[in-house]
Order: sequence, then structure tokens, then C-alpha cells
Amino acid sequence: MAAGGLFLVFVVFQFQGMNRHERNFVRLCKEIAKAHGYDSKTMRAYCNWLRRDYVGDRAPMRVTTPEKLGARKMPHDKEARILIAQDPYYFAALSYCYFSFRKWFLASKIQPQNFAMMTEGFSVLKSELIAYMAWMDTPVGKECLAKVHEKLKLKYAVDLVEELKGKAALIALNPIAFIGLGKTRDEIRDAVNVTLDHERLHMLYGYCPKLQKWAEKSLERKHSAYDNQFDPEASTTREHLAHVFESDPDLINARLGRCIF
Ligand SMILES: [Zn+2]
Repeated sequence: MAAGGLFLVFVVFQFQGMNRHERNFVRLCKEIAKAHGYDSKTMRAYCNWLRRDYVGDRAPMRVTTPEKLGARKMPHDKEARILIAQDPYYFAALSYCYFSFRKWFLASKIQPQNFAMMTEGFSVLKSELIAYMAWMDTPVGKECLAKVHEKLKLKYAVDLVEELKGKAALIALNPIAFIGLGKTRDEIRDAVNVTLDHERLHMLYGYCPKLQKWAEKSLERKHSAYDNQFDPEASTTREHLAHVFESDPDLINARLGRCIF
């Protein structure tokens, strides 16, 4: 009884001053870190870094910029709305069916709760949403949405189109999925920013016909190295380009031409 009381006091003290999203974030973060086999001291340090660096708003997704994240500037940054997931379940609710629609994964193999913990980021172009909305009206799309509602039990509505707020693209990052990838705070930041670069390369690829043409011609021969039967998307030119340039996206400038967003 006494031990339980002490534990409760500790928990209350630990979460004091945090908003609802921060508390949820820390709770989920610890679950993941534990599953990765971290000891409790490292686990606490990781989750507190992540919370301090990425969480703190009252909204489930926090609006951010490359500057705030300490990331480089890239062409057409202002065309994208960049969001950080404070609630990983909201991130999943926003993107799970979109991933399924694009066949980026097999929805039958990954549940929305797991998707929320392991998906580092995604990007979507406004121009791609018309086909997605039509797909969401099909039985497969409706089934996907029902699954998201059932598994994630979100208390607020999620609308991918609405989240673009009129921008040409949406980029969303999910910091909780980076646990286990980096050992220090700086390594986690770097990994998040590489994902931001990767997603921005997808955005540029989607909007720049000149870049698409160049990539199709120049990267074609290397495709086989990226062929992956478990991830059909991995062998596409779009994905290949992002992997090749994500660590040095400045090289892409010469290939952009005049992109029309
Ligand atoms: Zn990608």
C-alpha cells in the first residue's frame, strides 16, 4: 500500500506541468523504449529529450519549420505545411489509409497502433488527394477508415485534406518512431532532419517534371539494388531518388529546373 502510494506520488510529480499530449507522448515513448530493451534511466532520458525537442503544443500535431528543427533550407519550403506528431495516434489516423491507398505497405500486416510507433514520416501532395478521396469512397477505403477508428479510438476528427491548409504539400514527422535509431539527442535530431529532407525530396519530385525525367533516365540502372519484395515502393524512382539524395539534398538544386507548384 505504502509502496503504491509512493509510486503514485512519483508518477504525479513526474508528469506535473505537462499537457495531455506530453503525458501521452511520454507514456507511449516509454512503452517503445522498453520494448527496445532500454534500461529505465536511458529510457527516461530519451523520452524527455524527445518531449522537449518536439512536443509542447495543445494540438495533436505541431506546426514547425526547417529553421525551428535546425534543418537546412530547401527550395519550395514555403509550399509545404510541416507538422510534428505530438500524438502518434493522430499521425497514424492521418496517414494509415493514405499509405494503404498508395500501396506503400500491406494494411493486412500492420495495425494502426503499430504503424503509429514505427512510421517516421510521410509527405502528400495536394494534387494526389483527388484520387485518394475517390478511393476513400470505395469499400476498401471505407473498411480502412473503420479499422482506424476501431483501433485508435481517437476523440477528434482527422481530415488529411484539411491538414494541408491550402498548401501544395503536407509533410508530417513522427519523432516517437526514431527511438532506437540514435543514441544521443543530436543523433535523433539528425535522423529526424534526414527524414525531413527525404520527404521534401518526394515533394520536389512530385512537382518538378524536369527532376522526374532526369531521375528516370539517370537512376534507372541502379534500380535493382533497391528492389524489395516486402516494400513495393522501395524500387520506384521516386523512392530511389529520395534515398540517393537525402544525405546531400543540395545536389538536387541543379536538377530542379522551374518547378510549378
Ligand atoms: Zn520515401
